[in-house]
This record gives sequence, C-alpha cells and structure tokens, in this order.
Amino acid sequence: MEKPFVLLLFEDCCVKMKQSKLMEKRIKMVTMNELIALCKNRGFIFAGSEIYGGLSNTWDYGPLGVELKNNIKRLWWKNFIEQEFNNVGLDSAILMNPTVWEASGHLANFTDPLMDCKACKTRIRADKLIEEWLFKNNKTVPFSIETLSNEEMEKFIDDNNIACPCCGKHDWTPIRQFNLMFKTFQGVTEEKKSEIYLRPETAAGIFVNFKNVLRSTRGKLPLGIGQIGKSFRNEITPGNFIFRVREFEQMELEFFCAPKESDDWFKYYRQKAFDFACNMGINKDLLRLRDHDKQELSHYSTATTDIEFNFPFGWAELWGIANRTNYDLTQHQKFSGQDLSYLDPYTNEKYIPYVIEPSVGVDRMLLTILCSAYTVEKLENGEERIVMKFLPKVAPIKVAILPLSNKLNDKAQEVYKQIAEQFRCEFDASGSIGKRYRRQDEIGTPYCVTVDFDTLEDEAVTVRDRDTMKQERIKLKDLIDYLSKKLA
Ligand code: ATP
Repeated sequence: MEKPFVLLLFEDCCVKMKQSKLMEKRIKMVTMNELIALCKNRGFIFAGSEIYGGLSNTWDYGPLGVELKNNIKRLWWKNFIEQEFNNVGLDSAILMNPTVWEASGHLANFTDPLMDCKACKTRIRADKLIEEWLFKNNKTVPFSIETLSNEEMEKFIDDNNIACPCCGKHDWTPIRQFNLMFKTFQGVTEEKKSEIYLRPETAAGIFVNFKNVLRSTRGKLPLGIGQIGKSFRNEITPGNFIFRVREFEQMELEFFCAPKESDDWFKYYRQKAFDFACNMGINKDLLRLRDHDKQELSHYSTATTDIEFNFPFGWAELWGIANRTNYDLTQHQKFSGQDLSYLDPYTNEKYIPYVIEPSVGVDRMLLTILCSAYTVEKLENGEERIVMKFLPKVAPIKVAILPLSNKLNDKAQEVYKQIAEQFRCEFDASGSIGKRYRRQDEIGTPYCVTVDFDTLEDEAVTVRDRDTMKQERIKLKDLIDYLSKKLA
C-alpha cells in the first residue's frame, strides 16, 4: 500500500533535517567471513554453481563485482598500456601449442610440493602448511619457505610436529611434486598427441608474438606488450575466498629492453606498480615491497620484488615484478627455431632482449581493494554503518538515483537518463530512504541523488555524499557539472 502524501512529506523533511552524523570512524580489518557475506548479499561475488551445491573454490562475479573488475582492468590498461609511450596491447589465445610449455619450463617445473595426511586424506601444499603454522604461532624464520628443498620442508614439518589442519594428526606422506597445469584434449580423440593445456599465465602468449608485434607496429625497443586474460592453475590448496583460485584473470606486461637498461626499467616498473596499487585505494599501510634475496631468486632472474598486502590471513603476494633477463625469448628461440633477437637500428648491436615483467591478478587486486574499502562507522544515533570506501574511479556505481516516492518515478527516471549518459548509476525506488542510503553505503556508491516532491517545483535534487553524509541541494541543470567535479 502506498504511503499517504503527508507521511511522505514528513519523511522527506526528516531526511533533510535529521542527517545522520558521524561519531567515530573505525577502520578495522574485515574478516573473510564478513567480506564473503557482504559480497554475496550485495551482489559482488557469488559462490560458483551454487544451485547445484557449488563447485568448491569457484566464484562468479555478480552485477557489482563485474563493474568493479572492469574498472580495475580499465584503469590498469590506461596506466600500463595507453599512458606509456612504448607500450601496446595484445589478446592471445588461451590454448597454445604444447611445445610452448616445454620451452617455458612449465611442463617440467611448474609444480608445487604436495603431501597427503594419511589419517584423513587431506591434500596440502607443504610450503603453505609451514607458512600458515608460522603465522598462527606468530613465528618468523630468517629464510623464505619457497627456497627449501622437499627434504628440508619434511624435516621442518617433523621437527615442529606440524599437524594436519583438518584432523590434527601428524602423519604425512613424503612430499612429491604436483604439476599445476590443467590438461585437456584438442579434437575428438583423447590420446596423448592431442593433449593440450589451459594456459597457466598470459605471458607466454606475449613472448610467442614478440616478433609479430615488433614487425607490425614497426616498434623499436624498449617496447612493452601487455594483456589481460584468464589463466588456469590446478592449485593444491585454493582458498581464502578469491585470493587463490584455479581460474583467475591476470594483467601482465612484458617489457622488452636492452640488457644494460634492464635494471633501470625494473626499478621504474617496481615503483609504478606500487604507486598504481596505492592510487587504486589500496591501504598503503597494508602494503609492502619485499625484494627476493639471492636464495629466493629464480635462476634466470636478476631482481624480483613482490608487492605484498596484509590480508586478514596475513601478508601475501599481490603483485610480482621481475627482471626475467633474456630467459623466455632464449628458450622460445631454442624450441621454435625462430630468430627472436633484436637488431638495434642505432647501434647495430644484435641481442636477445631482456624482459621486465610486472604481473598481477585481477581477482587478487579486487580482494585487496575490498579489504581496504571496508569501513565500520559509528553514528550519532548509536547505529553502525558499513561503508565501502571505494575511490570514485573504482566504485562499481558512481551515483544512485532515489525517488522518495513511487509517484516521483517519472521525474527520477528523467534524472537517471541524464546522469547515465556520463556515469554508471543505479535506480533504486524500494524501501525507506534510510535503508536505501545504507545499501548504497555498503556497495560504496559515492553519491546518492534524491528526487523529492520539491524537485517538481524547484528543479533541484538533494545530493548526499557517502563519506561525510552531508546533503546539498543542487539544481538539475548544474547536476552533471557538480558530479563531474566531485567524481573526478
Ligand atoms: P603465489 O606465490 O601466490 O602462488 P605466484 O608467485 O605463483 O603466486 P605468479 O606466477 O607470479 O604468482 O602470478 C602473478 C600474479 O597472478 C600473482 O602475483 C597473483 O596476483 C596472481 N595469481 C597467481 N596465482 C593465482 C591464483 N591461483 N589465484 C588468483 N591469483 C593468482
């Protein structure tokens, strides 16, 4: 039943007069369960195949999640491709000739140390078991777990009596190496010679197209080729929501340069990646740069840095930046028999280019943004509100149009159409205005535009700022200008 007009006017007045005031800001680290619940309820991320009982560790991005993801990808593309003088984009196939993976070393070496609990049959990654045990027991070790051999890991687990997190027993099989690539078959026969793989990273597609891009763009070094796309890894222990999944998206840049310039370019992209992360609204206090020491460096890398984020479950890699030397092109040259060297037109020097690779997962970046944005605030009236404090450029919805009554829908739709030409907006006509504001706070919408009965007379609307909760009356003719300035 529709509310009487007088009551609506009364509500309207209440909205204008009783603006909620902020008493206390509490930025607490959100727990994974709180985040998963918010993502599910508000339409960011749903559990995969849910109506069939789900498929563990798969996630589907809902209406808000896909907007957030697209904003992240668009901003990365703008920063790493469009705004960089030397860089271009690519979109290569997921399925590749299997020799690519022989050349890249993935067939032989893309493995994780796997062990089984003999008591409850839980499968676990030995290095992650140790890392989690260290984190839970607040202990540190002066070396990186990744550098330990299988024997050293087994000894560490035995010496510290590290138990199975599922059943609590200490009865492990020896560690064996497990290849993370997903295998499938091309064509109708399922036989050895038709075996192919889902790509475990997007970088290989860039390396095999290096000469194509150079030739077709008449490019000169230094030259960066970037792409965004799906990668697949049959992770032994996926988990922590979208942190470690088996199907994810990567944003990778392979920056080809002269060997003597590679140290400088490495430093450049290390800093650029860090700055980009901060500019996406990721909390700087929860970020750190961790340089790999000699022991941890891959045999082909002269420098590698991980940008780590302090997730609710501890510090973990968000972004890897590596100087990969000329390893990849040398390997692909060897296995393909094609000349992948570069002749410098100015110096006549011929060499195989070095590569600087900043590589980050879209899903992992989205998770860091969600964790950083989650804020709980105490209001003057004693209530708490959850606000996702996304930067406007990252926010899935920039403006919400809220008619105060269904009788105002036509006018509000006019306003919606006007704003939708410029900004991603949402129309929400149901529920009390207070509840609608709270919902918009929880999905991180920077501005709410309320259309009330006065709008019909004065051609003005009330604009509410998500963070300050202050409201301003703005003429419709000035609204786009006003929002453009605020959302810039
Ligand atoms: P980790 O040590 O966490 O397994 P990695 O060092 O193997 O990661 P890279 O191969 O360097 O990761 O991949 C580059 C980026 O891709 C990572 O920094 C991360 O952001 C993302 N990424 C890698 N594996 C996954 C995954 N299973 N799920 C989600 N994102 C991933």
